[in-house]
Amino acid sequence: MKGVTVISHPLVQHNLTRLRDRETGPQEFRRVLGEVAALMLYEATRSFAVAPIPVTTPLARTLGVRLRREVVLVPVLRAGLGMLDSILQLIPHARVGLIGLKREETTLRATFYHKSLPADLRRFEVILIDPMLATGGSAVAAMDLLAELRVERVRMVNLVAAPEGIRRVRAHYPDLPIFTAAVDRRLNDKGYILPGLGDAGDRLFGV
Ligand code: URA
Repeated sequence: MKGVTVISHPLVQHNLTRLRDRETGPQEFRRVLGEVAALMLYEATRSFAVAPIPVTTPLARTLGVRLRREVVLVPVLRAGLGMLDSILQLIPHARVGLIGLKREETTLRATFYHKSLPADLRRFEVILIDPMLATGGSAVAAMDLLAELRVERVRMVNLVAAPEGIRRVRAHYPDLPIFTAAVDRRLNDKGYILPGLGDAGDRLFGV
């Protein structure tokens, strides 16, 4: 699928399997989700622009690079929080915006209950983080908000994606790069991904 990068690295797939396993409890789920998020971030940030800068080592001057733009991480509450800490370990200078979306049980429509984002998002690299891309409703709502704020560079990281969700996001945002560890079979009639890993928020927090 165009613009969708499936990260097939063995460590990512090994960890994904641990997360899918219903015997994996919240403590291990938190740890493994953090590990896999960090691994996925390498791939998701591969195309970040860099600018050359001179650097002096103890022995000589040479040319190095720095990231050209600041980074804003936007985890979608609440499951996105499970990927945040380990990503912050890798990009400690990143800012963090938060988006809270909930699905109405009957219509499966996404509605906001929280938004906090830095001003002037245009100058940042934005990474939208949500472990599950299911119906795509939350992703499209989050992207609508970011588009309103004129974000120019955004990419999305999802641990597991459903084909339905990818299609919906693609229909609205054809150029949004999506990074995922798996494109699963389909959604069930309650909007859960099959085989998926269940409710990521429940698995993460134990409630
Ligand atoms: N959200 C989840 O946490 N899991 C799903 O399967 C779908 C949406």
